[in-house]
Amino acid sequence: MNGYPKSVEKLIEELSKLPGVGEKSAVRLAFHLIDAPREDIEGLVEALSQTQEKIHLCPDCFAITDEEVCDICSDTGRDHSTICVVEQTKDIYAIERTMNYRGVYHVLHGAISPLEGIGPGDIKAAELVKRAKDGVQEVIMATNPSPEGEATAMYLRNLIAPLGVKVTRLAKGIPIGADVEYVDEITLIKAFEGRYTL
Ligand code: ZN
Repeated sequence: MNGYPKSVEKLIEELSKLPGVGEKSAVRLAFHLIDAPREDIEGLVEALSQTQEKIHLCPDCFAITDEEVCDICSDTGRDHSTICVVEQTKDIYAIERTMNYRGVYHVLHGAISPLEGIGPGDIKAAELVKRAKDGVQEVIMATNPSPEGEATAMYLRNLIAPLGVKVTRLAKGIPIGADVEYVDEITLIKAFEGRYTL
């Protein structure tokens, strides 16, 4: 016997495409799945295909959701005149965990990066400017404290501030290079409290 059966090879190959899964973990996961009860596998397959089918972008904030409009945008108890701008939907969950922010969000789906050929047209920038014109009081830039995140915040600020909308940036305190999604709650609360006008 040399090598795994073809179907197992294929499973390992697919699993190793997942983030954080190296070759060794892929092999371990594959053999775990092979031994798993049939109903567990069926549950997994169903969850995977349901996610693909049901998940789409919220038409207002562009967060991923399986509702027509996401829970946050459809919540009338939230302050719709304050928009917190993040790079990824994942960042929203980090900020929501602080239970300290009552505004709504806008997901850019990336950051401007000339080196990687990502321009303003590749992120949801024009969509944000359009929203900012609609009775918004404050736009909080919560992009990552990376060169790309900073450049994106400044680019958007230059488009939004002239509309008479206050544009703020989260206070330093989020370590450079740390993504918003990994920052602890206390640091995030402090960063919101200490936000300054851009
Ligand atoms: Zn939404």
